[in-house]
Amino acid sequence: MSIKKKISLFFTLLVLCILLANNTLHYIRSKNRLIEFNQKEITLVTEEIAYEVENSKNSALYMEDRMAQELRTASIAIQRSLPSKYQDISNERLKELAKQLRVSHITLLAPVEGDIIGVRSSDSKEINMSTKEWSYWYTSFQELLANRPVTTKKGMALPNFWSGPIEVASSNPKHVDKWGYYYDGSTNYIINPYFRDKDVINIEKQFGPTNVMNRFTKSLDGVLELTVFNPTNFGRHNQSVYLNGNRYVKMKDQPIWYGTYTYQNTKRDKAFMKKALKTGRSQRYLSEINKKQVLKTFVPIKEDKSAPYVIGVVYDYGLIETELHQELVKHLLLSLPFILLVLIVSIIFSTSITRPIKNVMEHVNHIAKGNFGKILAVRRRDELGGLIENINHLSHFLKTYLHDLKSSQEESEFHAYHDSLTGLPNRRYFKEELNRRLIESQQKIIKHVAVLFMDIDRFKDINDTLGHSKGDQLIQLVAHRIKACLPPYNSFLTRQGGDEFVVLFSDFSPVEVEKFARKIILDVQQPCYIKGDEIVVSISSGLSFYPEHSTNLDTLITYADMAMYASKRKGGNKVMVYHELLNEKQTEKMQIEKRLRKAIQKETIEVYYQPKVDARRNTIMGVEALVRWHDEELGFVSPDVFIDVAEEAGLIHSLWGSVMNIACEQISKWNKLFNQELTLAVNFSPRQFQDSSLLVHEVKNVLSSYKLNPGSFEMEITESTLLINTQETIKALHELKEYGISISIDDFGTGYSSLSYLKKLPIDCLKIDRSFIQDIQEDYSNSEIAQAIISLSQSLKLEVIAEGVEEEYQKAFLMENGCDHMQGYLFSKPLAAKDFEAAFLNS
Ligand code: C2E
Ligand code: CA
Ligand code: CA
Repeated sequence: MSIKKKISLFFTLLVLCILLANNTLHYIRSKNRLIEFNQKEITLVTEEIAYEVENSKNSALYMEDRMAQELRTASIAIQRSLPSKYQDISNERLKELAKQLRVSHITLLAPVEGDIIGVRSSDSKEINMSTKEWSYWYTSFQELLANRPVTTKKGMALPNFWSGPIEVASSNPKHVDKWGYYYDGSTNYIINPYFRDKDVINIEKQFGPTNVMNRFTKSLDGVLELTVFNPTNFGRHNQSVYLNGNRYVKMKDQPIWYGTYTYQNTKRDKAFMKKALKTGRSQRYLSEINKKQVLKTFVPIKEDKSAPYVIGVVYDYGLIETELHQELVKHLLLSLPFILLVLIVSIIFSTSITRPIKNVMEHVNHIAKGNFGKILAVRRRDELGGLIENINHLSHFLKTYLHDLKSSQEESEFHAYHDSLTGLPNRRYFKEELNRRLIESQQKIIKHVAVLFMDIDRFKDINDTLGHSKGDQLIQLVAHRIKACLPPYNSFLTRQGGDEFVVLFSDFSPVEVEKFARKIILDVQQPCYIKGDEIVVSISSGLSFYPEHSTNLDTLITYADMAMYASKRKGGNKVMVYHELLNEKQTEKMQIEKRLRKAIQKETIEVYYQPKVDARRNTIMGVEALVRWHDEELGFVSPDVFIDVAEEAGLIHSLWGSVMNIACEQISKWNKLFNQELTLAVNFSPRQFQDSSLLVHEVKNVLSSYKLNPGSFEMEITESTLLINTQETIKALHELKEYGISISIDDFGTGYSSLSYLKKLPIDCLKIDRSFIQDIQEDYSNSEIAQAIISLSQSLKLEVIAEGVEEEYQKAFLMENGCDHMQGYLFSKPLAAKDFEAAFLNS
């Protein structure tokens, strides 16, 4: 259900509830008011009835008196018409007379045997009727007969005449009579004329309270019945009197004095009457009598003159209910337009609330469809206004977010195809480009494709020693230099990652491509300066050609890579073109690496010792430790082969650790055993200076753990170690020097010598590379370099040693030129420990 419908429904229901509650309350109040009103009315009515009853009683009494007068007149007429002795009078005569005088009957009473009885009568039932039991009546008869005025208060007493109150006929209870009694002494009987039934009742009807009651009953709406109850006798039995064999109830003892009693409920009514009289207040109850809902009210009337009585009013309760019902219907009908009004108002109200929500919703839907940045005007200051504002913010945010996303997508797209450091196309770009070229060449659009693979030599060392930021700068610089060497067309330089670059040449002949490659080698190896550091770098490169070597894209790249590695193995700074043999070397290399790793783990690495001798004195100064590896599968592998592999595979430091431990242990053992102080020279790879402080720490550790004198330890480093002339390396060398270790430059003369570092660094000794020693011919024609190195060391006050001395003339030449320290097969090949011991130490 929509909010709009909910709101309308809610308000309508709310108002409906309120109206229902109001109507119910009104109903209850109306009911109470009606009943109250009814009560008041009844009180008024009863008061009036009481008044009327009293009134009519009085007028009835007057009429009774009039009847009494009439009866007296009739009596006198009777006396005049009849003989003085009743014995002479017949009953027929009396009937006749009664007709004449317009009375109902005439009875003659006379004293007989201590009683006064009916002696003659027009009413046969009166004859012989005894009056002895009639109490005040009998007394009154006696008073009449005695010619005394009748003393009784009831009825009407006149001279010689008494008229009793209207009463049920004691001779026949079916009749109501008004009697007159006359006796003046002229007769032997009391003359008793009387009116019966109709005559009496007519008066009562005309003037009595019953008449009044009937009138009221008719005139009052809803009044079903009015009754004047005699509370003393109502509901009681045995109030009857037996006289002359008849049972009758005296008029004043009748339970109901006036009115009818058709809505009977004797037991309950009696209780209510009692309560009414006791409290002096009217009592009421609701009940169903004669299949009608009636409200019965009992009003007590207490007059001073007469006995108290109760007026009962029976009210038609259905009338109240009908009235209430009508009232309710009226109210509900009145409510109806109101509800309708509320419904309309609430619909208008809910529409006014939901319309802006709907607008916002449409707006949000619009945004959700991708129309970011769309703004809805804020025209309200309520919660909805706040919401719109937030949605606008969101919309704006989404727009900028999308924009950022797009640009970052473009950026990442660029990154996907370019290298962030150099801005050059990357490996992926290269592959796609190469693919295009190959397709073009297959379509004979272009004839040649060449891949030039380049890698900076020892870049890992340079990078680690320089620090990465300078390393990055170096890469940028190299990239720049390479680019400068390339033709502006048909060449495509890419960076493959790390220090690898690849150039894709199209439509250049292999000869032309090789020329470009060589130019690159030459240009790159020019010294460069990065933030104060002088750096000399070189690159190794490999070439592969399409279609000469392969027509497969991946293979072409792999071949160029292989050729590049081959040039690395050959010392770097070279261009090599792929050829089939390289393939085999690659697998061999991998085999070596695998086996070497195992050998280091299993500690099957051995160390050989080659003496360093003082040729002039003919003594052994010390030994150089040289690693040896005899593999189960590969057989003997030369250090020249596996040292390179170890360096590439990152195994060189653990290999050094093995050699260092074995050699130090051996030397310290020999020193003790033979009371010697041999110097020990160990070879260090440039890579080991990547973490120079750790290296210093480890060297010190091993020496001290074998209690070797640092002064007898010599580290052999190559010129390439010094090429990257960084603070770190210099610091480490100084530290080791201070510790007492001496430092030799191995293979001196083959690298890129710079005189400046020889002066700057704490170097002790130069080791002339054996190639220069081999160059010393018997006629010394090729000996300039060796000579130059010797004189250089002398002028720099450095020690000098020649390695690879195999021939006597070489020894002679060196000694002649001032180099007495030598190493070589002439003195000894590198020997296993026990051989060395046997050859040099036991003697
Ligand atoms: P290197 O440091 O210049 O070692 C001297 C090399 O020359 C050794 O070869 C040695 O056997 C050889 N040699 C000695 N006297 C003569 C001679 O009179 N004539 C000829 N032709 N050769 C001679 P080796 O043992 O095969 O070692 C080759 C290279 O391997 C070494 O050159 C060194 O650079 C490296 N190397 C050897 N052992 C280790 C090591 O423990 N650690 C490191 N980092 N490199 C090592
Ligand atoms: Ca060496
Ligand atoms: Ca050497």
